[in-house]
Amino acid sequence: MADCVVVGAGLIGMLTAQELAARGMQVTILERGQPARESSWAGGGILSPLYPWRYPDPVSELARWSQRYYPDLCQRLEGESGIDPQWTLSGLLIADVEDRDAAQRWVTRFGAHLEWLDGVSAQQLEPRLGLIPESVAWLPEVAQVRNPRLAQSLRVTLENRGVEIRSQSPAQGWKIEAGRVKAVRTPEAEISADYFIVASGAWTTGLLESTGLTLPIEPVRGQMILFKGPPGLVSRITLYKGRYVIPRRDGHVLVGSTLEYVGFEKQTTQQGLQDLKQSAFELIPDLAAQPIVQHWAGLRPGSPDGIPMTGPHPEIANLFINAGHFRNGVVLGPATARLLADQLSGRSPDLDPQPYLPENRLKSEPC
Ligand SMILES: Cc1cc2nc3c(=O)[nH]c(=O)nc-3n(C[C@H](O)[C@H](O)[C@H](O)COP(=O)(O)OP(=O)(O)OC[C@H]3O[C@@H](n4cnc5c(N)ncnc54)[C@H](O)[C@@H]3O)c2cc1C
Repeated sequence: MADCVVVGAGLIGMLTAQELAARGMQVTILERGQPARESSWAGGGILSPLYPWRYPDPVSELARWSQRYYPDLCQRLEGESGIDPQWTLSGLLIADVEDRDAAQRWVTRFGAHLEWLDGVSAQQLEPRLGLIPESVAWLPEVAQVRNPRLAQSLRVTLENRGVEIRSQSPAQGWKIEAGRVKAVRTPEAEISADYFIVASGAWTTGLLESTGLTLPIEPVRGQMILFKGPPGLVSRITLYKGRYVIPRRDGHVLVGSTLEYVGFEKQTTQQGLQDLKQSAFELIPDLAAQPIVQHWAGLRPGSPDGIPMTGPHPEIANLFINAGHFRNGVVLGPATARLLADQLSGRSPDLDPQPYLPENRLKSEPC
């Protein structure tokens, strides 16, 4: 019997499994489809919230923790799996900052590195920038990873360490006795364990409903397009009016993303394509000469204020939740995985768990 069963093999489930396995626990992950083919594949891999000062402090606390941890994590994963997640210090140029005072307060509070540039200096940093903005925030410490590669390297590392990942194995319900989960039901079997962790992304709310818990996590569609240009065409992550370009090392350039409340509908749309192309050409006009090689959509696990829900179920002693990372699961994931594993194993966490506890985040009933 496993010590822990994690439901969901997205980045959050796999990072959590990694922390639990590092504490000597026997971990099994149940995945409804294939590992990391949902939001964790569809995302952009920017290791910072966009306009980070517009988020509440609990999001910044997690982001700062993970940002410090990421270089070591990627180096270790590459060493153990042979797959390089391509952690790259691209820096982030933000070309439309109207709330400079708020940005400056956030810099002071979190010790972040931010420089204010004029349009000409911004174009020196990113010569193909199509805009000459009045005022640009430059955050040179912001890095990115290739999230699909990060997920692959995690998967191989987990399997090498004896974590079992069962694909095509959906959790369908819980067997609960005397205030504890005895087993999780799948089409093939009931799987018993000492602890259960729900890390099911946008699908978390539905899976917990039968336990009497209604969390405010909902799917939020994001579409992206991918250009293939020559390496070096773009070199900085650049953000303008909520849209961004992310340059990969091999010349691919991602442009994202839409933010759509359309339920579990994962189709791409013509409107999404047109909007993203327009943003891309406004930011980097030279992209108009490059082919678009892919267009996709993913379902983010949306949550109020983007604060994840991490911690024990309020009423079921051995059931835990790690979900609701919304637009920032790649950057916040290592910190919430550590927090969850600390809580489960009774260690004193580095970060204050209070803002993330599911019991403090219940969905409010309409008046
Ligand atoms: C377009 C877009 C751009 C993004 N850009 C960034 C970015 O630049 N930086 C950043 O930090 N974040 C970004 N994100 C957000 C980030 O991708 C997510 O927050 C993160 O991937 C969430 O991870 P997750 O593991 O919770 O969810 P998911 O990756 O969706 O994984 C959940 C898993 O649970 C499985 N599952 C669901 N129900 C069951 C069940 N009943 N039984 C078994 N398995 C189940 C699913 O199949 C899935 O594999 C972006 C997201 C999108 C869509």
